[in-house]
Amino acid sequence: MISFKESFMAKIEEDPIRGCWNWIAGQVGRSGYGAFRKSRAHRVAYEMFRGPIPTGLEIDHLCRNRKCVNPWHLEAVTRLINVRRGLAPKVAGQFNRNKTHCPRGHPYDDENTRIYQGRRQCRACDREKTKQRYWERKRTKLEQDNG
Ligand SMILES: [Zn+2]
Ligand SMILES: [Zn+2]
Repeated sequence: MISFKESFMAKIEEDPIRGCWNWIAGQVGRSGYGAFRKSRAHRVAYEMFRGPIPTGLEIDHLCRNRKCVNPWHLEAVTRLINVRRGLAPKVAGQFNRNKTHCPRGHPYDDENTRIYQGRRQCRACDREKTKQRYWERKRTKLEQDNG
């Protein structure tokens, strides 16, 4: 006789790199969440391994992988936090936070980075541009003087 837990665990494929327990059985509609006996599989996992989900709380995927049912990748949070976290990657994308260097290879660290109209600017590049403009002006002036 297969227990509830065993039949649940039989539908999981562990991702050796991320540690996610990917649900390989059906999903809830088109939500991307795994389905287990008419419930969301990740909620079942959470309750099975970590205990009841407090009323009013939602289960958030810390790994952002909806298929994942690893109870330690899940956290019970309020709806507001869940929505906010869902939006976070988009906001980060706008600000290009993933990039660590400017197109010319200067580091985007605290010292070298300036935020201008919501975008990051590289101070080293700024300085070079200013210098370049100065020399260009100077050269133009010299050419005019000699002209
Ligand atoms: Zn995961
Ligand atoms: Zn730069």
